[in-house]
Amino acid sequence: MEKLILNGKLIGREQASIDIEDRGYQFGDGIYEVIRVYGGRLFANEAHLRRLYSSAEKLSLDIPYTAQELTEQIEALVRGNGLDTGIVYLQFTRGAAHRKHSFPEKSETVFVAYTNELERPLHQLEHGIQAVLTEDIRWLRCDIKSLNLLGNVLAKQKAAENGCGEAVQHRGEIVTEGSSSNVFIVKNGELITHPLSNLILNGITRQVILDICEKQQLPVREETFTIRQLFDADEAFISSTTSEVMPVVQINDQKIGSGKPGAVTRKLQGYFKERMDQLTKAITTGPAE
Ligand SMILES: *Cc1c(COP(=O)(O)O)cnc(C)c1O
Repeated sequence: MEKLILNGKLIGREQASIDIEDRGYQFGDGIYEVIRVYGGRLFANEAHLRRLYSSAEKLSLDIPYTAQELTEQIEALVRGNGLDTGIVYLQFTRGAAHRKHSFPEKSETVFVAYTNELERPLHQLEHGIQAVLTEDIRWLRCDIKSLNLLGNVLAKQKAAENGCGEAVQHRGEIVTEGSSSNVFIVKNGELITHPLSNLILNGITRQVILDICEKQQLPVREETFTIRQLFDADEAFISSTTSEVMPVVQINDQKIGSGKPGAVTRKLQGYFKERMDQLTKAITTGPAE
């Protein structure tokens, strides 16, 4: 039977229940992470947990486990479900309490984690996806990976209704990020992506890409860019845990560059794949990452 974690215990999925007054359910008062699993191993687990604790701190949410304890729990879950290629979803809420907006005097964090099988999106990685542009209507703490996702949901719905894989959001002239991804453009061989601020989520895939660029000495600028720069770019791609380095070949009715995945994007995909392969080939028995 499929297993999940509820408050530190590995149990059958059908045995899990959540209080209807859970603040995650009633207020979206909680945070989450999505961690990639390749070959049964967690990709960039340490970075995900670092971001998780950072999100928690920004919301004064208590996580009653150390990173080591969480890692052990998640690894046991992945093993228990025999997961090879997929994701682990982690969610922490402020727990159940009589409904009032301000923090309850007493409530206990509710922790849920489950796995899903998910293949790599090979066809899209090869051919790229289309995107729609949409005004970024989200709140001003997009640096927190919170459960409040209505802005993101509406953006992605607009993409879906237009047969597109992602919505690229902008505040006025400035492109911020996708509904669940970061956005990069390439112009004259140089990468540009929105700098870290309250307006974007500090994507782990974004971090991996920036690290690859540093090691490979590929020029990158973490600077804002405009809608006009986006349409004038030679290449564009989005990055996320599930999408990896995903070429964007068309936005609205306009092709980006040649309308095909670009050379720099391809190169990055290659380096990204190397990181994945390093993970699955690793035979060390030391602590995970
Ligand atoms: C999760 C997320 C991302 C991508 O982050 P990864 O850690 O690379 O998966 C980007 N933007 C938003 C709004 C997100 O929720």
